[in-house]
Amino acid sequence: MPSSLEKLQKFLRLEAERGYDNRAVVGGLNKILPSWENDARKENVNEQILQSVTTRLNQYPELNLQQRATTIRELIEITHEAQPPKPFRGEARPRFEKPIEPPAEVKQPEHFSSPRPPRKPHDATTWVENIPSTQGLSAPLTVIHGIGPRSADSLATLGLNTLGDLLYYFPRRYDDYSSLKPINRLQYGADVNVTVIGTIQSISNRSTRGGQMQITEAVLGDGTGYLRLTWFNQPWLTSQILAGKSIVVSGKIDMYLGRLVMNSPDWEPLEQDHLHTNRIVPVYPLSGHITQRWLRKIMYQTVNFWAGRVPDYLPASVREGAGVVDLSTAIAQIHFPDSTARMEAAQARLAFDEIFFLQLGVLQQKRNWESVSGRTFPVADDWLAGQISHLPFELTAAQTRTLQDLRSDFSSGRPMNRLLQGDVGSGKTILAFLAAAMVAQHSAQAAIMAPTSILAEQHYRNVLRTFFPPGNLEETPLTVSQIRLLIGDTPDEEKEDIRTGLANGSIRLVIGTHALIEDPVIFHDLQLIVIDEQHRFGVAQRAILRSKGNNPHLLVMTATPIPRSLALTIYGDLDLSVLDELPAGRQPIETYVLSPLERERAYTLIRNQVTEGHQAFIIYPLVEKSDRDEVKAAVEEHSRLQSEVFPHYKIGLLHGRMKPAEKDQVMSQFRAGAYQILVSTSVVEVGVDVPNATVMMIEGANRFGLSQLHQFRGRVGRGQAKSICLLVPETEDSLENERLMVMTQTNDGFVLAERDLDQRGPGDFLGTRQAGFAEFKMANLTDIRLIEKARKQAIALFDQDPDLSDPEHAALLKTFHRFWGDGRGDVS
Ligand code: ADP
Ligand code: MG
Repeated sequence: MPSSLEKLQKFLRLEAERGYDNRAVVGGLNKILPSWENDARKENVNEQILQSVTTRLNQYPELNLQQRATTIRELIEITHEAQPPKPFRGEARPRFEKPIEPPAEVKQPEHFSSPRPPRKPHDATTWVENIPSTQGLSAPLTVIHGIGPRSADSLATLGLNTLGDLLYYFPRRYDDYSSLKPINRLQYGADVNVTVIGTIQSISNRSTRGGQMQITEAVLGDGTGYLRLTWFNQPWLTSQILAGKSIVVSGKIDMYLGRLVMNSPDWEPLEQDHLHTNRIVPVYPLSGHITQRWLRKIMYQTVNFWAGRVPDYLPASVREGAGVVDLSTAIAQIHFPDSTARMEAAQARLAFDEIFFLQLGVLQQKRNWESVSGRTFPVADDWLAGQISHLPFELTAAQTRTLQDLRSDFSSGRPMNRLLQGDVGSGKTILAFLAAAMVAQHSAQAAIMAPTSILAEQHYRNVLRTFFPPGNLEETPLTVSQIRLLIGDTPDEEKEDIRTGLANGSIRLVIGTHALIEDPVIFHDLQLIVIDEQHRFGVAQRAILRSKGNNPHLLVMTATPIPRSLALTIYGDLDLSVLDELPAGRQPIETYVLSPLERERAYTLIRNQVTEGHQAFIIYPLVEKSDRDEVKAAVEEHSRLQSEVFPHYKIGLLHGRMKPAEKDQVMSQFRAGAYQILVSTSVVEVGVDVPNATVMMIEGANRFGLSQLHQFRGRVGRGQAKSICLLVPETEDSLENERLMVMTQTNDGFVLAERDLDQRGPGDFLGTRQAGFAEFKMANLTDIRLIEKARKQAIALFDQDPDLSDPEHAALLKTFHRFWGDGRGDVS
């Protein structure tokens, strides 16, 4: 392969890995063009390839993310065509294709317009295989004509072991070659994908000047005109496509020297079934030695024979209620669609199933939780009023409402399973404390788990302030010694002391980090678990903590605003309380996007605020390469700011490589006002509360999601003074800045979350929640109508047969278990 193409591919892959930010090359991808073109010409790279690369790269900066992803994929395909082939054990004609997987963030947007690619090829589910009367589906792939042990091995690398796996191995996209045209009607520019049927007039091979590339050229005639076809490095084609033969070709119409051409069209003989041309053609994810053409043929055979034999596990009532097609149709049409509409109907059915099973599981989970009994903790009105009266502020209406939710959970006789969702600064913490007090006043134990030691420590200090306000000791539900902090850094001796206190019940409230579950901590009578910033914890971690009590009450809190539809889907097993109101007197945070050149203005603004006695955060961006680089950037910037920009201020530094104790020290010094400015990496993201801080400056703002920026921004604006958030992207990239501008328009975390959901997909919200069940291949969690439909059907079925014990639901039950995997259990 000419080295210029190799070099280009390297950049293309890099760009794909970087998430299409147009920074694989300094200044933008098109900056490589002049020198690359020069090299490519020296190496006699085909003129058409040259043209394609130049045009596409020149347009690249203007494209949106999704278009960029498509362009990069096309470029990689184009440059791959130029690769010399290697033989493939005679099973199929070699055409090496390495599918490149778009990075996670891009997968979702892509999905809006095209079928969703399976996330990982080896994800292919095997839940079809055991369906009664279709034992054949669990047969190994070698039963298929044309698959020997060696191709079976290759397919196994894609996770394909049985016929059932094949049926559920979905195309990652489709090429719509269903538009068939006579040659005289072809139009350059308009006919991106088109099919032409004709007779080969002539066909021959030639080499490029340097001999690096073999070009096969053919002329196709259909009575209305002639079309030139060109293939690269597939010289054997001259023995397959003979002059006089009628063939079907599909591909893109290009222009070469003023004439219409098709480069590397897909083709097949006219007289056989058309799989590769003249239809909507599936394009599967590939790996290793497997070629698209070969796999498509295997799929075609399998789907043709089996799709109609797969029994539908969904009861007809559910299918009709949801208006989805039957499973046989769905499987047939997802692979070889007759039309876009039928393909979409197939996707809708398969997506419906995923959400439906998810909902059924969530409903069962909820019922399981409701079936056990939970200790009651009655809360007297005057006791609660007394507690509230000592708070330094009035509760908001939303806080009061949530407090009632908690009270009624505590008196229900069932364990609380509540998700408390509230935007940053909405005041969740105080509710956690009051809940803990409700339990502690009855001599039971409560644990609050936070994701970082900074946060745990902040909560600890905060709880002491809340329950022991100066001059008011008589009403406290707890004594100081009954409240302890347990973090990784707690000295061993103290840890031992805490463990003893928890085991004998003398400690009533413990606030901590993972240390609460990692250490061999035993509770005397754990009755309430509060998880702060729940998306930071895994399913397993919550389960461990829960197992330390006997059906304890559970309150999980999140500041990541999850759109309601998503919350119902993913957390449908939890009751939901929402703090949709900020405490009174908060001024909205003014947000500005500054260009890198305006940094001085930001510094001036910080100086002004500091002069007025306030403090500022300066955040340094995520560095993808490594945690170490991130730290390095923050350390270097810290010393530059200290020596050059703010020599008269004290500037603190916080980063992820510091020991928890060091971090806590810096934080508490900042909180105490010992530093005017705190330079930090993203470790400061969650929960930290410094009311005197009024400026949040975020460098490299383009690297963060909107929800995450919103979290940073939530670190300021916590006191009475007006606060400002300054976003400084790395470049003047218009696309990025447009995205950031949303931050200047709203302070509403839900609005930003919806935007993130649109732009980046649900990954940011799901966190580890997904780990509890099989990943979705089809369902789009932003599709509210789908979610609501599936939810409605799941509820109806659940009401009628919650355990799926009706014999008519046997197939459904089996599939349901496969969907959830064997180890169901705690999914919270
Ligand atoms: P979050 O919901 O982001 O965890 P916090 O619980 O940290 O928010 O609360 C943010 C700040 O608001 C804290 O300083 C807290 O003391 C204060 N706060 C909480 N509730 C109220 C209220 N009702 N009125 C005024 N300030 C409040
Ligand atoms: Mg918080």
